[in-house]
Amino acid sequence: IEPLEDTLKQPAVAGGPGALPPAALDARDVSAWFGGHQVLDRVTLAMPAGRVTALIGPSGCGKSTFLRTLNRMHELIPAAALAGEVLLDGEDIYGAGRRLTDARRQIGMVFQKPNPFPAMSIYDNVVAGLRLTGVRTPRRTKDDLVEESLTRAGLWKEVSSRLRQPGGALSGGQQQRLCIARALAVRPRVLLMDEPCSALDPTSTRRVEETIHELASEVTVVIVTHNMQQAARVSQQCAFFLAEQGAPGGIVEHGPTEAVFGSPQDERTADYVAGRF
Ligand code: ADP
Ligand code: MG
Repeated sequence: IEPLEDTLKQPAVAGGPGALPPAALDARDVSAWFGGHQVLDRVTLAMPAGRVTALIGPSGCGKSTFLRTLNRMHELIPAAALAGEVLLDGEDIYGAGRRLTDARRQIGMVFQKPNPFPAMSIYDNVVAGLRLTGVRTPRRTKDDLVEESLTRAGLWKEVSSRLRQPGGALSGGQQQRLCIARALAVRPRVLLMDEPCSALDPTSTRRVEETIHELASEVTVVIVTHNMQQAARVSQQCAFFLAEQGAPGGIVEHGPTEAVFGSPQDERTADYVAGRF
């Protein structure tokens, strides 16, 4: 494998260094509550199309909650409430007449702990991505889609000869890439990743980072990570979340990743990215 620094170098972005394309996903004044307890306060963040946005910040500041508001998972939690808008290509995913499954189909999610269906074959795990979101495809197309999705997730070469083996037989890192393939099978516009490498060893982490890099430009990625090096390696935009002393969480600072890491405007961001809390 090439050194990450080389592999992950980003192409120049039109509009000058650090300029970001228009938003694919645009969260506006998103607030969230659990049983009357507010955990997010008016979070506004535009996630540029075909780029990677990293969400960083201490535990409990609402990063996972924010991610769940972006694909309507938050509303499935009992006693959870929400305010604000999430625009996908300019249309509110919470708008009147918009269905949960529409949001799901266009906005995929990968979690910290790889969660393939362990007894189901590798092939069926990828196909399950379609079934879960109600997409129907004929058999032949399915074979192509399984190959395409596993290829995009960087797993095809490793598993092409054993697609009938159970997903649970794969290593942790391979299982996580299988989950990425399952999410990609529906060809989402956006992929949300909540600490996707926290449960993985360094080699598997590198593979997942390479996969994220390969996806860039086709898919808009939003990734939560506690690993500052990872945020710096994979993202072009970074948002620092913080929840101060019982207050709900919010974004302290966001911008091009080089700026947030290289010349943070807020002292709290500077302390956090330098590992001081
Ligand atoms: P992070 O991902 O940044 O660690 P979370 O979004 O998980 O933060 O949590 C933000 C706040 O919301 C925390 O105070 C947490 O305890 C609370 N919270 C998260 N999930 C739930 C839930 N299902 N029910 C009640 N409170 C929750
Ligand atoms: Mg979290």
